[in-house]
Amino acid sequence: MIIAIDGPAGSGKTSIAKRLAKKLNMFYLDTGGTYRALTLKALEGDLDLKDEVALQAIAKNLNLKIEQDRIYLDGRDVSEKIRAPFIDKNISKIVSYPKVREAMVSLQRRMAESGDFVVEGRDITTVVFPQSKFKFYLDAEFAVRVQRRFKELENKGVQIDFEELTDDLKRRDEADINREVGALKQSPDAVYIDSTNLSLDEAAEKIVGYIRN
Ligand code: C5P
Repeated sequence: MIIAIDGPAGSGKTSIAKRLAKKLNMFYLDTGGTYRALTLKALEGDLDLKDEVALQAIAKNLNLKIEQDRIYLDGRDVSEKIRAPFIDKNISKIVSYPKVREAMVSLQRRMAESGDFVVEGRDITTVVFPQSKFKFYLDAEFAVRVQRRFKELENKGVQIDFEELTDDLKRRDEADINREVGALKQSPDAVYIDSTNLSLDEAAEKIVGYIRN
């Protein structure tokens, strides 16, 4: 069984998907984390970010392991590093390449094929697992999404200028919505949930309610 969740950055997807997986005793796959790990690998390897074919080759051979909410790249725990602002700044270009996405989508399908998974991202309900019976689109007002991301970084002790973060999120939203392949959009059969005025627990409960019904 797959529960597929899409939504923009800061909509609460990650926290809600984790809660959901725990409540329903399922595994959890954060596909944003897989794209973040790919970006880290490309940046550490000093790859030309305009070279789609070289990026595709890295994506095809990506050595990733996900255990609970830790992500291992080539055996190294990169869970914190992939959430740093330098990844946010470079990721949009890399994830826009169709060849890269094709390789990443097959990796994500392989990762979630053995068991029950809550999978979250931007194109899960439309491209990765469109046949899933449980599809959700999580959203929240832009200002609330910026606040959430700011708090998340603050809690981790990462210093970032609020305006810079606002611009970054705006830019990532635009890139997510407008790319040609795997763009962020609401699947017509996905349940729309606005988490602006909900706590993460309330939003997770709402989804559990839909699933149990
Ligand atoms: O969800 P998160 O913000 O960690 O995702 C990081 C980036 O990866 C996003 O800005 C988005 O552009 C990209 N992404 C994607 N497709 C997915 C998940 C994430 O393009 N399924």
